[in-house]
Amino acid sequence: MASVGMPEYLERRVAAQRGGRMDLRSFDRPGLAVVLADAIEADPGTARRTFQDLWQNGADDISGLTSVRRSIRKRLAAMAHVSRLETDRVLRSADGTTKFLWRLDDGLVIESVLIPDGDRLTLCMSTQVGCAMGCTFCLTGDMGLERHLTAAEIALQPLTVQRTLPPGRRISNLVLMGMGEPLHNLDALVVALRICLDDFGLKMSHRRITVSTVGLVPKMAELAAALPVNLAVSLNATTEEQRRAIMPITRRWSMAELLDACRTFPLPSGKRITFEMVLFAGFNDSLEDAERLRVLLTGIPAKVNLIPYNENPGRPSLRRPSDAVVRAYQDHLVRHGTSCSVRTTRGLDISAACGQLGRRVA
Ligand code: SAH
Ligand code: SF4
Repeated sequence: MASVGMPEYLERRVAAQRGGRMDLRSFDRPGLAVVLADAIEADPGTARRTFQDLWQNGADDISGLTSVRRSIRKRLAAMAHVSRLETDRVLRSADGTTKFLWRLDDGLVIESVLIPDGDRLTLCMSTQVGCAMGCTFCLTGDMGLERHLTAAEIALQPLTVQRTLPPGRRISNLVLMGMGEPLHNLDALVVALRICLDDFGLKMSHRRITVSTVGLVPKMAELAAALPVNLAVSLNATTEEQRRAIMPITRRWSMAELLDACRTFPLPSGKRITFEMVLFAGFNDSLEDAERLRVLLTGIPAKVNLIPYNENPGRPSLRRPSDAVVRAYQDHLVRHGTSCSVRTTRGLDISAACGQLGRRVA
């Protein structure tokens, strides 16, 4: 029974453990080797085959672990289980984007968005139910933090989506840009990404995984020390004051501290940090902003991704700038040698676009 005073999200997690049996999907391969050696004296080969069955061979329960001996399966059945993501709904946009809503063991719902773009097939994944960061313009922020996702719940998103695709069609890129702040749930994120990167797991390339952060400065170095993945930073402003007005995290770590952390961030070779700039009409979309941004990024291997604000009914004062204004901002940067793209809005008709991942279904 949960103890008095245990936070609600932990109580739910304990309940989700199903009578204390451990979830075999909650470990990366080295972790699983340690746990299975300890629990049933399994050798590393057995752990590797178990892991491969779980993440490559379609096992969805203990009986599906067909690469390990029956006696091992029997022992595992007594002490472990295999979690799954239950599909709540799948919504398809006219532009080819697909939003998956997943129902978790405790009834909460999270989302992933699959975005086809030429040869690329990008999955935008969630790391938390809701988000604690409270950015004023973001629907996920409105929810507050309900709970962190487990490593299994994170890694199950690409696994489960991949299984819906026709043979030969593979998810090529992962972006941690769905619900939640990935670096606020760093431990689970790192285990999940190790599963995604593992040759016996989802076999993704670290060059095709991008973690987006609001700027949890100390966690950025921790991420880099754990995994060589790409970094995106949601900067969204060009002065401290402007950023404080829309992103409360700026009171904890200033924009200057954030940019210093970017300067020392070790990237995969030849890669640059992506700076995401949500543009709001009349707030941060002027050419003076563009010029300030250019100066701020001096000395950082950077590319800028402009995201015209997706309007939310709850924020009538925040407006999307016109295409001409966005283009002028982009032109200014490009003319002065800063690489800059504009993010095409995808999945608007199914509320799958940036900042629309709240509770709304369509
Ligand atoms: N919490 C992380 C990961 C989520 S990414 C982060 O903030 O970086 C979500 C991205 O969508 C962020 O770059 C955010 O600034 C952007 N965003 C949030 N609300 C938006 C909206 N209404 N319109 C456009 N972009 C939005
Ligand atoms: Fe959280 Fe990112 Fe939304 Fe900010 S923009 S509230 S950090 S999900």
